[in-house]
Amino acid sequence: MNELKRCPFCGEIPRTEVEVTKMGGGEDHVDFSVHCTNCGTFKIVRLKINGFVNFFDVEKAQEQVIQAWNQRAVTE
Ligand SMILES: [Zn+2]
Repeated sequence: MNELKRCPFCGEIPRTEVEVTKMGGGEDHVDFSVHCTNCGTFKIVRLKINGFVNFFDVEKAQEQVIQAWNQRAVTE
């Protein structure tokens, strides 16, 4: 697992959050987010789960959101 970098805008350590949303009809999804509670900056990766959770997909989504966050931390 990649290590989360600090917020590029305020330098705080961000929080990671996982939120499951049940929509029914195969539209269930999980939002993985990295969220800086100090300045409100966030990144979200949404994973559709279609009734069951595949752990490979979960890990991939977590990696993706951390990578997206870290890229922003480097480039901005
Ligand atoms: Zn921040």
